[in-house]
Amino acid sequence: MANPNNPTGTYLSKFELIELRKKLRKNILLVVDDAYSEYMINSDYKSGLNLFKNRQNVFILRTFSKIYGLSSLRIGWGYGPKKIIEGLNIIKPPFNVNEVAQKAAIESLKDKKFISRSIKHNIYYAAKLKNFLNNYNISSNDVSANFLLLDFTKCKFKAKHFYKKLKTKGIILRLTENGYNIKNRLRLTIGSRTDSLKFIRVVKSIFNK
Ligand SMILES: *Cc1c(COP(=O)(O)O)cnc(C)c1O
Repeated sequence: MANPNNPTGTYLSKFELIELRKKLRKNILLVVDDAYSEYMINSDYKSGLNLFKNRQNVFILRTFSKIYGLSSLRIGWGYGPKKIIEGLNIIKPPFNVNEVAQKAAIESLKDKKFISRSIKHNIYYAAKLKNFLNNYNISSNDVSANFLLLDFTKCKFKAKHFYKKLKTKGIILRLTENGYNIKNRLRLTIGSRTDSLKFIRVVKSIFNK
């Protein structure tokens, strides 16, 4: 269970997640993927890590690829019961996380300022872009993680057409039809200030032609 989920940006509230665990059979392992948890400021949300401590049938996944910005270093971590960790150690390749990545990850945890700045940046630009796109009848999920799933149902352009237009200007969104099988939508990841302002400029030019 990716919570919030990619690419929909939807999430289960803390109560729903607790309810899910209660209603699953005890011998079913619930794996909660907290990949985007750092971005979440919604008051009804709690990360898997905060909800499930010392549980024998819950495993939590975390990554340094998102808010910590270390995706190319390929490093993440997990939290869970000893018996699962032991099982993972049996099947994992011997050299799966290199030392440079580990050192960088540890240093990145200390940079609290960068994290709080990134959270603020994300909320600001996600809300700004969501509102901006509404002007063109492109709707999206409520702001949650660092992306929006854009819905073109009511827009005068199809998602694919919009995708192609943006691509000619060097902006690449994620098509969700292949792989996810979600039609007429695009996933927009919140970028830097420069990227976001360029996106706004380019979208205006696409619609004003
Ligand atoms: C990006 C992402 C991850 C993390 O992937 P890495 O392999 O650590 O880069 C995990 N889960 C979801 C849902 C993601 O979107």
